[in-house]
Amino acid sequence: MLKRLALIFFAAALTQTAAMAQQGAGLPSSAGTSYVIRAGKLIDPETGVATANQMIAVKDGRIVAIDASVTPPSSAETVDLSNYSVLPGLVDAHNHLALTYKKVPESDVYYYTYIGDSTALRAIQAASNGLQMLSYGFTVVRDLGNNGLYADSALRIAIEQGWIPGPTMINSGIIIGASGGQFVPTPEMAKQHNIVYPEYIEADTRDEMIKAVRENILFGAKVIKICVDCQAYPYAVDDMKFVVKEAADAGMKVAGHVQTQEGARRAIEAGIWSIEHSIALTDELHKLMAQKGIWRVGTETPFTEYSGSKEEFERTVAGMKSAYANGVKMAFSTDADYYVPGMTRGQVVINFLKSWKASGIPDKEILKIMTTNGYKVVDIYDKRGPLKPGFPADMIAVKGNPLENIDALRSVVFVMKDGLVFKRDGVMTPEKFLHGGPVNGWDIH
Ligand SMILES: [Zn+2]
Repeated sequence: MLKRLALIFFAAALTQTAAMAQQGAGLPSSAGTSYVIRAGKLIDPETGVATANQMIAVKDGRIVAIDASVTPPSSAETVDLSNYSVLPGLVDAHNHLALTYKKVPESDVYYYTYIGDSTALRAIQAASNGLQMLSYGFTVVRDLGNNGLYADSALRIAIEQGWIPGPTMINSGIIIGASGGQFVPTPEMAKQHNIVYPEYIEADTRDEMIKAVRENILFGAKVIKICVDCQAYPYAVDDMKFVVKEAADAGMKVAGHVQTQEGARRAIEAGIWSIEHSIALTDELHKLMAQKGIWRVGTETPFTEYSGSKEEFERTVAGMKSAYANGVKMAFSTDADYYVPGMTRGQVVINFLKSWKASGIPDKEILKIMTTNGYKVVDIYDKRGPLKPGFPADMIAVKGNPLENIDALRSVVFVMKDGLVFKRDGVMTPEKFLHGGPVNGWDIH
C-alpha cells in the first residue's frame, strides 16, 4: 500500500511537472520581481508594426500589461528604453551549444571533438555558449544533438532551475540514425570501442526506433532529431512515418537532417516537421514543402573570411530565394557549432544576417522569420515568445528600427529573460539569475 501511495505521489509530481513545462513555466528566480519598461518603439514582428512610446509592466517573470500607459506593479523598477526599439527575443532554430570544434587540436573535425572533450566539459562550455547567445538577443535555441551524453538536457534543466541564465532550450538529446549515425566508423571503432556512441543512437529496426525515441524523451529531449539520409541506406518513408507517430504520441515533433534529394523527397512524403539544412533542396522540393507546410531550417552559412566559399554561398542564396518565392515556411538557423577566434557564439550566429540580406528577403520578413517563425518552428508559439500579457517576459532592445534595417539586431543593448534583466546598457548583468538550489522544484527533467 505504501509503495502504491509513493507511486501515485510520484506520478502526480511528474504530471505536475509536465503541466508546468507545457505552460512554459520554469521562470527561474523571478518571483517577487517587477519592472516597468518604457519603450521608445515597441515592435511587433508578426504584423510588422512599430508603435511609439509604449510601456510594458512585468511581474513575477511575466508580462502583465502593455499600453501607452500602465499601472506599475508595486515596487516596480523602471527601465528607460525610450531611445530604443523593444522587441521579442530572437530564435536560432538549429545550433549545438555543447559542441565547439576548433582548428587546434581537431582541425575543425567534430569527429575528434568528442574524443578530446568529455560530456561534462562540453556541458560547461554549453552554459558559456548559452550566455554568449543570450547576450546577442537569442532567447530561444533549438539544440539538435551532438551534445555528448545529454549535455543539452543538462543545460536546459540548469537554466530552468535558475542556476544560470540562458536561452529557452528546445533540445533533441541524441540524434537517431541508421547504423553508423552520421559517422563512418571503422569496424574497430563501432564494434569494439563503441565510438558512434554517445553522438548517435543507431536505430535500424522498428523496435530500435521506439526505444531510441523513448530513451531520448526519458533523458530530457523536447524534440526528436533523426538523420534521414546520412548513410547509403536512407530511412524509408514508412520508417519515418513510424517515428513521427511515436514522437507525436509524446507531443513532440521530428526534425530531420537531410543531405540528399531522395532523402528530402522521402522526409516530405513522411510528413516530417522540419528539414534541417538546405543543401539538397531544389525548387521542386520547395514546392512540395510549401504544399505540405514543412519547415525549412536551412542553416544558411554566410561567406566570410572564416566560413563558406563564394560558390557555396551563391547556391545557398539561390536556394533561399527559391524557398521564399515558393512560400516555404522559413526559420533562422545556423548550425554554428565552431570556434572563430575573436568572436563569441552570439557574434558568429548574428553574422548569419549576411545570408539573409543577400537573399533579398525584405528586412521586415527577416525579422518575422527570426522571431515569430522561430517560436512556431520550435513549437512554443502559444506559450512563449510573442510580447503579450500572460507570457514570459523575454524581450530585447536595439538602437534603430530592425523593420527597416535588420542590421540593427547586431547591437543588442538590453535583454530581459523570464522577467529578469540579463543585459543593460550593453553589459551583461546575470546576478539576479543565479541560485544555489532548485527554484522550480526538484523534479524538472
Ligand atoms: Zn547541426
